[in-house]
Amino acid sequence: MPPPFLRRAWFAATDWVWPRVCLLCEARMTEPADVCLCPACVTALTTDPHQTCLRCSSTIGPHTDTSAGCSRCRDEVVRFDSATRLGVYDGRLREAVLRIKHVAGDALAEALGTVFAHKLRQRSGSDGPQLVVPVPLHWRRRLTRGYNQAESVARGIATELRVPLATRTVRRVRPTPKQTAVTPAERRRNVAGAFRPTTLAAVKGLRVLLVDDVLTTGATADAVATAVRTAGAAQVHVAVLAHR
Ligand SMILES: [Zn+2]
Ligand SMILES: [Zn+2]
Repeated sequence: MPPPFLRRAWFAATDWVWPRVCLLCEARMTEPADVCLCPACVTALTTDPHQTCLRCSSTIGPHTDTSAGCSRCRDEVVRFDSATRLGVYDGRLREAVLRIKHVAGDALAEALGTVFAHKLRQRSGSDGPQLVVPVPLHWRRRLTRGYNQAESVARGIATELRVPLATRTVRRVRPTPKQTAVTPAERRRNVAGAFRPTTLAAVKGLRVLLVDDVLTTGATADAVATAVRTAGAAQVHVAVLAHR
């Protein structure tokens, strides 16, 4: 990367022909930045004022012992080792998550991945992921949507963490019904067995980071984690942009 003074000079010289605007709020960027998000949006997206459960990323009260999970996940069998969220499904983060469900949100999705990577790096320290795997869409939904937003978020994370991205490690073998207005138990039934590993060699013995946009009950992440574990992953950690 060029030194800051050169980046600033290049930014100033090209700004009048090519004005940069924030991918989320469209405010004019006044400084060169690693992602095309204005400082106000970055702060809003990355500030999570709550403590979270390390196992399922739910909001918890202060001083809560979550070594065996929180009240929401303690009695659940989860197949991933931890879950980290960028924030709660609310405000500007909710707006961003809704925006990336459309193909025009591709650049925004990748930018969200980049800012998320900084948090993930802090949390995992030297035991960071060795492979980044996005939660796949069924091919039919991918065709109608035009792209998989989880894959673009995962790409942002993988690039920033300098870890390989594996987009064909897991396949969604059947479409699942829309997961709104169903009970947690129904959600689990809907996604059970919906994912299959496609290659056993790719994840064997690795710490895998599974990436999705939203986590509600964790049923989808759990089903993908099961597939990744079947393929021999040593650890499966989940990263979601927003927790509902
Ligand atoms: Zn902005
Ligand atoms: Zn929990």
